[in-house]
Amino acid sequence: MKISIIGTGYVGLVSGACFAELGNTVICADNDPRKVANLKKGEIPIFEPGLEELVKKNVKTKRLSFTSSIKDAVVKSDIIFIAVGTPSLENGEADLTGIENVARNIAINMSGYKLIVEKSTVPVETGEWVKKTILNNRKRSYEFDVASNPEFLREGSAIGDFMNPDRVVIGVESKKARELLTMLYRPLKAPIVVTDIKSAELIKHASNSFLATKISFINAVSRVCDKVGADINEVAYGMGLDKRIGPQFLCAGIGYGGSCFPKDVDAFVTITDKIGYDFELLKAVREINQQQKKFFLGKVKENLWIIKDKTVGILGISFKPNTDDIRSAPALDFIRFLLQEGAHVKVYDPSALEKAKAVLQDTKIRYCTNAYEVARGSDCLLLVTEWDEFKELDFLKIKKLLKRPLLIDGRNVYDPVKMKALGFTYVCIGRRSARKG
Ligand code: NAD
Repeated sequence: MKISIIGTGYVGLVSGACFAELGNTVICADNDPRKVANLKKGEIPIFEPGLEELVKKNVKTKRLSFTSSIKDAVVKSDIIFIAVGTPSLENGEADLTGIENVARNIAINMSGYKLIVEKSTVPVETGEWVKKTILNNRKRSYEFDVASNPEFLREGSAIGDFMNPDRVVIGVESKKARELLTMLYRPLKAPIVVTDIKSAELIKHASNSFLATKISFINAVSRVCDKVGADINEVAYGMGLDKRIGPQFLCAGIGYGGSCFPKDVDAFVTITDKIGYDFELLKAVREINQQQKKFFLGKVKENLWIIKDKTVGILGISFKPNTDDIRSAPALDFIRFLLQEGAHVKVYDPSALEKAKAVLQDTKIRYCTNAYEVARGSDCLLLVTEWDEFKELDFLKIKKLLKRPLLIDGRNVYDPVKMKALGFTYVCIGRRSARKG
C-alpha cells in the first residue's frame, strides 16, 4: 500500500519504518526541514533500539523515504497517518494545532480518495474536527474517510511493540476505511478491535490513564508501607500474582513521567471536565504522582539535612531506560530543585545527556561519562532511571568514590540487605530498609 506518515518523531518514524518493513511504500513527512535533511543522510534523530538498522534497510530497498513537503506525501499516498505531537497546553488541554494544521494541508493537497488516520493521541471527538477541517478546506469534492488508529508502542521497545502489539485498534465509519486498515495490519497477526472513531479515541486515553492509575495506586500503597515498615516490592508481588491484577505497572518509585502519561492524563481530565464529567479518580492519580516526586525529594533532604553546597550525583535522566526522551522526566524536576537549594549536581545518563544539556541550559551542572565519575566526591547518589548498566555497578568501588556512602534508590532496584552489608545507607521507596532506626 502507499502510505504517508506526517510527523516523523518517536511514533511516526517507528511506524513508518515498520510499515515499510511489512512491504508497504512509505513516505515520512515532517515540517522540521533539518530533521528531514538528517534522515535523508541516514542520521536518526532519536535513540530507539534497532531503529537505525530498520530505517537504513528500508531506505535501501526504496520502500521508505523522507520529505519536508506535506503536499508530496499527500499526493503520493492513499492512506495518510497523522503522527504529530499533541503536547499539553498550560491548562492541561491537548494542543491540537499540529493536527489541525496537517488536516488543512491534507485537504488543500488532496488529489483523489484519501484515508486520513489519526495516530497521534487525541481527545475524544477530534475525529469530528478533522472531518470538518477537511470538508472546509478541500478544493474539490474528493472522497475521503477519517479513521482513528491510536498507537500503543513504548519507547525503548518500540519496534517490537509495533510489530507484536497486544491489539490493534481501528475506529472507522466506512467499509472502505475498515477494509484498508484491516488489510494493512493483517500481517501483524494481532487481534484487531474495530470500533467507531470516538470509542477508538477513548480507548487510548482510557488505557494510558488506567496505567497511570496503577502506578499512582502502588505509589500510594508504598507510602503506607513506609509508615508501617512493610515492603512494597513484596506487596506488589503478592498482588501481581492475581491474574485479575497482573504484575505490570506495580513498581513503586518516583512517579510516572515521560511524554505520554502526564499529558494524556491531563488531556483526559480536561476533556471530561469540558463535556461535563468530573473525573475525580484521575485528578487524584495526578495529585498522588506529584506527591510522590516530593516524597522522593523529601528523602534526599531528610538524609542530607542541608542541601546547600552538597554534591548530589544523579544516575539517569531519561524518563525510563532505553530511550533518550526526557520530556516530563522526573529527573529534570529533581535537578532543578537541587540547584535551587544550592547543591552541586553531577549527572550521567547513557543516552540522554545531550538532550538534557539543551533543556536545562545550566552551566553549573557537571555532565559525566559514567556512574563512577558521578560518584566521585558526591555526598550521595540518587538512582533516578533504572538503566541496566546501573544494576550491575561495582558498589565497593562506588562506596570508595563517594564522600559518604548514601544511596537513594528511586526505583527500588537494589537489594537492601546487600547494600547494608556493603556499608551503604540505603534509602528506597516503601521497603523495610527505608524504615528509620
Ligand atoms: P514527537 O514530538 O517525537 O514527533 C512529532 C513530530 O511531528 C516531530 O518530528 C515534529 O517536527 C512533527 N510535526 C509537528 N507538527 C507538524 C506539522 N504541522 N507538520 C508536519 N510535522 C509536524 O512526538 P511522538 O512522541 O512521536 O508523539 C506523536 C503522537 O503520538 C503524540 O500524540 C503522542 O501522544 C502519541 N504517542 C506517543 C508515543 C510515544 O511513546 N512517544 C506512544 C504512543 C502514542
